[in-house]
Amino acid sequence: MSSSSAPTHQDEFQSPSLPDQVAAAKGRYTEVFGNPPHWVVAAPGRVNLIGEHTDYNAGFVFPLAIERYTVIAAGRPLKTAASDAVRVHSTLFDETAEFSLSNLEPKRRDWTSYLRGAFAGCIERGLHPGTLDLVVDSKVPQGGGLSSSAALEVATATLVEAVTGRTLDPVDKSRLAQKAEHEYAGMPCGIMDQFSSALGAAGKLLLIDCRTETAELIPLDDPGVAVLVINSNVKHELTGSEYPERRAQCEQSAKLLGAATLRDVSSEQLEANRAKLDPLLYRRAHHVVGEIERTTRAAAALQAGDWPLVGELMYASHASLRDDFEVSCPELDVLVEAAQQIGAEGGVIGARMTGGGFGGCIVALVRAGREREIADRIGAIYLERTGLTATPFVTKPARGAHIVEG
Ligand code: ADP
Ligand code: MG
Repeated sequence: MSSSSAPTHQDEFQSPSLPDQVAAAKGRYTEVFGNPPHWVVAAPGRVNLIGEHTDYNAGFVFPLAIERYTVIAAGRPLKTAASDAVRVHSTLFDETAEFSLSNLEPKRRDWTSYLRGAFAGCIERGLHPGTLDLVVDSKVPQGGGLSSSAALEVATATLVEAVTGRTLDPVDKSRLAQKAEHEYAGMPCGIMDQFSSALGAAGKLLLIDCRTETAELIPLDDPGVAVLVINSNVKHELTGSEYPERRAQCEQSAKLLGAATLRDVSSEQLEANRAKLDPLLYRRAHHVVGEIERTTRAAAALQAGDWPLVGELMYASHASLRDDFEVSCPELDVLVEAAQQIGAEGGVIGARMTGGGFGGCIVALVRAGREREIADRIGAIYLERTGLTATPFVTKPARGAHIVEG
């Protein structure tokens, strides 16, 4: 099978250089605003290895921050501006938007929602940055389930830290970013995305207990194993109500089972009380309860180097998201089936959809040295079966949000 049958964006396969991105963002700032920026910050996207739709059920998730950052370059406006004026240029949209820090308009929905929400959280905590010009440049694909939204929120909060010279507790920072997503973007997400971006660590996975909002750092240091992410490049918009609907179904199941959250329900308890749930709610709860158990088992298996078990749990997670939670889609299923077809003999340890679902990416663990070949094979199968081109890339667990300059 030749790789030419599956175009795979050679240039984007390896992690982009953060210093190059920072230089480009600074250059763009100078072009747009006429003087160089004073501050530069970076916050990564994330990929979740296992533990999907468990965060808002107070369960476990097992993500890593990825070597793909949202960078913000910032400075004071050259000309006198209102003391609360913010101008922000997105290199993605090649567009400059404006808003005021004294009227952050929570109901206004556009790409600045994530920034406005994060500014609001910082100001609530007494960190007021004053008037700013900003350039946002991101290597996190947007709408791909890798949390470009959380990266933008966490980058904004990190920028406010840089500008004010104050430091937020990183867990509090993820909470304020999560609240920005809830109240300004209208997305009732759990804590995983913002937590991963704020607290990611080079070389480490985060086993996050979303009940206590604490994380155990688990090294991913087997030189023989690599993380491969493949973007299906589809995003099924549906009605947008699916995520809040799943969340409500989980809350309702917990209530009918007499538990505060699905975290408090074991598999045995779920089976014993199955009659209390209608078939749909049972399947939703069955996914969440099983997924929380799979996540802690996968973390233990990974630490023990039991790769076959890690892989088995990833495939089981995908099947459960597809059949019980119903958040997969045909394109994600094709990618995971292709990975599974290549299998252990072909160097694939395991694969599953990652992120909220209905499109976006799959994550696979593969044997190091075979990433490119595996990505090409999966890409060829995907092209053949869907007519679509997938975009693969490799990553290592990356450092979380930080101030780069200023
Ligand atoms: P995901 O978080 O999975 O990437 P979301 O739909 O939650 O997908 O967030 C994507 C949104 O975040 C975009 O529609 C846009 O509003 C905003 N966004 C992401 N990256 C950028 C960027 N580089 N510039 C401006 N807005 C961005
Ligand atoms: Mg998002």
